[in-house]
Amino acid sequence: MNEQQPRLLVLGAGTAGTMVANHVRRRLPHWQVTVVAPTDVHDYQPGYLFIPFGMNSPEQIRRSAAAQLHDGVTVVTGEVDLVDADGQAVQLVDGTRLDYDRLVIATGTTPRPDQTPGMEGPHWHREVGEFYTREGAIALRDQLATFEGGRLVMHTCELPIKCPVAPLEFTFLADDWLRQHGLRDRTELVFVTPLDGAFTKPVAARELGHALEERGIVVETDFMVESVDGERRVLTSYDEREVPFDLLVTVPVNMGADFVGRSGLGDELNYVTVDKHTLQFAPRPGAAPHPEIFAVGDAANLPTSKAGSVAHFSVEVLVGNLVDLDRGRPMSHSFDGHANCFVESGHGKALLLDFNYETEPLTGTFPLAGVGPLQLLKESRLNHLSKLAFRHVYWNALLPGRPLGLPSAMSMAGKHPE
Ligand SMILES: Cc1cc2nc3c(=O)[nH]c(=O)nc-3n(C[C@H](O)[C@H](O)[C@H](O)COP(=O)(O)OP(=O)(O)OC[C@H]3O[C@@H](n4cnc5c(N)ncnc54)[C@H](O)[C@@H]3O)c2cc1C
Repeated sequence: MNEQQPRLLVLGAGTAGTMVANHVRRRLPHWQVTVVAPTDVHDYQPGYLFIPFGMNSPEQIRRSAAAQLHDGVTVVTGEVDLVDADGQAVQLVDGTRLDYDRLVIATGTTPRPDQTPGMEGPHWHREVGEFYTREGAIALRDQLATFEGGRLVMHTCELPIKCPVAPLEFTFLADDWLRQHGLRDRTELVFVTPLDGAFTKPVAARELGHALEERGIVVETDFMVESVDGERRVLTSYDEREVPFDLLVTVPVNMGADFVGRSGLGDELNYVTVDKHTLQFAPRPGAAPHPEIFAVGDAANLPTSKAGSVAHFSVEVLVGNLVDLDRGRPMSHSFDGHANCFVESGHGKALLLDFNYETEPLTGTFPLAGVGPLQLLKESRLNHLSKLAFRHVYWNALLPGRPLGLPSAMSMAGKHPE
């Protein structure tokens, strides 16, 4: 390791990779920071949810990836092919080799329609839609524009997925949109989930389940999809249940980048196995340790939601630990799995969830005890406006690494345990 100018290599220039590079550039200015990105595109992904309903335009959520990185950060355009962990080097698809002293993997998770038989047939991005990519969200906007009623099915293949509340949000927004367009009476809205309820966490599942019921949304639980038949317009589960649809909106299986698996660093879904508190690579039994490798954001196999808020809080912990290591100290920062999620519930309102590894979402106020101004687990107009405003916070404060005044660890102040 070059003690004077350690080389940090960050893989991925999305939410987490951009924040890591910018924070390290500011806090460890003597480090050489290099980021690998396949294209010069950075999308604000929460905006994908709003594109089908015309609430965000595709242009509003896209910026240059390189422009989000501080001066002094080197950008290498390319796709990672392999991490040679023993040789402390990364191989790109074009043959470039990049050596590192410390490596941060921040290559996120990707929807993989190829993992479900029938999903990618001729009906893909037509009657079989999705909103987890920019092109999918645009195609779905066009499908909705000609939708005349029938069975609109919101479906999730399996967990984990990024933003696990997004399928619920889509369903609530679709309910609203259908009412506004005079189509709700002619549409059966169905929510199909592999879970036994609306969400993974019991208290939130109860609240969100009530919200689905109130809106007359049919819920099909424990549905493990086996195949999609776009021609017959039917979803089939392993236990041979069939769900017919006129328009299907699906969340395909989500997986980490293939190179993670090829490099021997991942679990069965190609998520990097890490210590859930330090974010340092944790080898599977019998494999070699590589303490110079870390993973953050959706790329890591953290047992919490895959969400931008988790990327944000975990990056602060990771960078704190990199600073410790630079100073020759043991790592002193520990990630608690903290996640914040706004859940659009339609009618111009949203709920806010705040939880971590140990504590499920509770009622109360956020961020200030008793004051709020945001209400937890309750629909409010202010939560919705905060969600919309977050796009500006993302570009102008979160990515550049400006302090947001939100502690990375979850606080119990203002929360009401049941
Ligand atoms: C529809 C939708 C709604 C969402 N809503 C919310 C929300 O309301 N709140 C919230 O907190 N989160 C939300 N999220 C989730 C949030 O966007 C992600 O959790 C966040 O972007 C994760 O950051 P990341 O850096 O880990 O991954 P990403 O931001 O996805 O970045 C990964 C980067 O790695 C790059 N990459 C991948 N493979 C390679 C390779 N082989 N070589 C080089 N580079 C590679 C990709 O191009 C990408 O730029 C939403 C996501 C979606 C899809």
